[in-house]
Amino acid sequence: MAPQYDAVVVGAGFGGMGAGIELDRLGLSNYVILERENDLGGTWHVNHYPGLAVDIASVTYSYSFEPNPYWSRLFAPGKELKKYAEHVADKYGLRRRMRFGAVVDGARWDEENQHWVVSLASGETVTGRYLLTATGFLSQPYTPPFPGIESFAGKIIHTTAWEDDFDLTGRRAAIIGTGATAVQLVPEVAKKAAALTVFQRTPIWVVPKVDAPIPAPVQKLFARVPATQKAARLVNTSMLEALMVVGVLHFKQAKAMNKGAGLLAKAHLRAQVRDKRTREQLTPHYDFGCKRPTFSNHYFKTFNQPHVRLETSSIDHVEADGIITADGHKTEIDTLILATGFNLWDVNFPAVEIIGRDGANLGKFWRDNRFQAYEGITVPKFPNFLSLNSPYSYSGLSYFTTIEAQMKHMGRLFGELFRRGETTFEVTEAANARFLDTVTDKLGASVFYGGDCATARSYYFNQHGEAALLRPNSTVSTHRQAVSFPLDDYVYGVPA
Ligand code: NAP
Repeated sequence: MAPQYDAVVVGAGFGGMGAGIELDRLGLSNYVILERENDLGGTWHVNHYPGLAVDIASVTYSYSFEPNPYWSRLFAPGKELKKYAEHVADKYGLRRRMRFGAVVDGARWDEENQHWVVSLASGETVTGRYLLTATGFLSQPYTPPFPGIESFAGKIIHTTAWEDDFDLTGRRAAIIGTGATAVQLVPEVAKKAAALTVFQRTPIWVVPKVDAPIPAPVQKLFARVPATQKAARLVNTSMLEALMVVGVLHFKQAKAMNKGAGLLAKAHLRAQVRDKRTREQLTPHYDFGCKRPTFSNHYFKTFNQPHVRLETSSIDHVEADGIITADGHKTEIDTLILATGFNLWDVNFPAVEIIGRDGANLGKFWRDNRFQAYEGITVPKFPNFLSLNSPYSYSGLSYFTTIEAQMKHMGRLFGELFRRGETTFEVTEAANARFLDTVTDKLGASVFYGGDCATARSYYFNQHGEAALLRPNSTVSTHRQAVSFPLDDYVYGVPA
């Protein structure tokens, strides 16, 4: 039985859109993009809390083949990213392939028909020869089970479900969490709230953000002479690359650079926060890079304001009108903002149930063994399946470098498949094992294993204590491998 589609893509964020563009390039144009939200853009559709902006410069945080000369700032605000996503969807004809409100429950490999059967929460099924999941890394919001939270009588908002018309003026607010989201949100909430208490469990490294508006003449120059924006991208990407490769991945060989970044962040803190005790509380005691560092010129300063307080005692429980900490102190609030991030390792790998050949369950395989995926994209026993948000897939600091490497991997893989006149592929056990050995070995030199990450509570680490998210390569080498991986790392056609 022929499948309905050449391919089914799950997720209409930048990953899923990149996959769609590549499928078109490969001539696999009969595909559908299933999206659980009511619009496209992934994280940039879901997140619209005050202060949201990229913290990878926009020249780099965009597709290299679709530069946007009109970013208003070096670090564009969130709504420009959403607009950029819409522009890409329109220009590349992706919108007509998208189905919104299509919540995927799971997918099962149909051995007999050699295609995937994808089940939707509505009860409908769709079939595709190939399955590509682009469900994001940070797409399953996490709300900690604080005792008593259900009794809270005020307003509760998770940052991923921000209500744009909710007025914070005069509110007594609490923000729980001090990750990258809170670093952007805290200064904005402080502008309006009558009182703000920030509940911090683990301090975060914050370095200055070298941001500024991009003047209209520069935007015009980028539009007229694209090579100038390309050059700006190259400079910025090279700096990020140095930070990642030298400071994080080669921590053992280049501790000084990592320590330098830590010193910069400490100097930033000293320059911005007057109170010594608050400074001490805001100082991380783990190495820079163990956890995703953040960039802000406003976060630290906010704690100088008389109506803003940093609370570091742990949360014991929530009552109708406040939060009680372990020291017995009650902070009276009427607004509880959860900047508590995402659950990656319990519910996101994979985000939907995936059943492959011989009944293999991807989530169970990853949990019973180790989290793994060949080149961060394919897994043995899962034919015709590309898992774009896999363990060890994230390369570099900008997600776009990962997306584009995966597009190249698709190009090489499908090119070979077509050349052989086959329609089914599967990565070999041996290739997968070799890749896992290589990344494990290389990660030994990284800050994750060579540094002191004991108190970081970083989502880079999974439940087994493995830093199984980032691929320990420069993005240059990731891209090189995407166009040169051994073709016989895959089996093509149905095994005899
Ligand atoms: P996050 O980094 O996971 O931070 C969640 C925060 O909630 C942490 O401070 C965490 O404390 C705290 N928390 C969780 N459970 C808690 C509990 N039971 N009690 C007290 N505190 C608790 O999430 P995020 O800030 O949303 O950021 C996630 C990622 O999204 C970032 O790392 C970044 O990759 C991305 N992001 C990017 C941008 C950007 O590019 N502009 C902006 C925002 C987010 P612990 O640290 O102690 O666990």
